[in-house]
Amino acid sequence: MVKKISIGDILECPLCAVEVPMSGDEEVGDQVFCTYCQSPLQLKKTKTDELYLEEDF
Ligand SMILES: [Zn+2]
Repeated sequence: MVKKISIGDILECPLCAVEVPMSGDEEVGDQVFCTYCQSPLQLKKTKTDELYLEEDF
């Protein structure tokens, strides 16, 4: 079962460590932008279904 992003979920920017709020529409593999440093980030998932952001330059 794939974990979905929920409205209000917060993921941490790997570059500036700011908390980036999710809109709820994102899916794994999507690109999102840090609200603080504007870096492109890719939404990824660990083997244990933990969602995280990775820089995507
Ligand atoms: Zn950032």
